[in-house]
Amino acid sequence: MSVRCGIGYDLHRLEAGRKLIIGGIEVPFEKGPVGHSDGDVLAHALCDALLGAAGLGDIGKHFPDTDPKWKGANSLMFLEHAKKLLDEKKMEIEYVDAVVILERPKLGPHFPKMREALAKSLGVTTETIHLKAKTNEGVDAVGRGEAIACHVVATLNGRAA
Ligand SMILES: [Zn+2]
Repeated sequence: MSVRCGIGYDLHRLEAGRKLIIGGIEVPFEKGPVGHSDGDVLAHALCDALLGAAGLGDIGKHFPDTDPKWKGANSLMFLEHAKKLLDEKKMEIEYVDAVVILERPKLGPHFPKMREALAKSLGVTTETIHLKAKTNEGVDAVGRGEAIACHVVATLNGRAA
């Protein structure tokens, strides 16, 4: 048995008139991420953390943004696919900790639904997924509300491959 940690990071620009999808949940707001898929920073960073811990590369390798198949895709699909890859390697998700960085709106009230959606996609309990939110104190693009970013650390248990 071995324990492995993976880190994931993602950032998307925010533009007016786009849906703000975070952790598979639509958060009411006047801006949303620009991206090939739904631009879900939390799902993307989480996917990278899982793939990294499993030694399976990154999200771009598995879901290239040049592939029309993923245009506007619900990013929870990426997580479901990552979970299958982990199962094949007999690796289990022990814990996920994430921080979403966004100036506005407040995310705390949406966390229970996000945790539920992420846990369901990954076949884990909601207690396995921990979410935090930060603002960027008005500094740089994230602080000016021009972008959203996310960091995730995932811990896996499994046999060393
Ligand atoms: Zn992304």
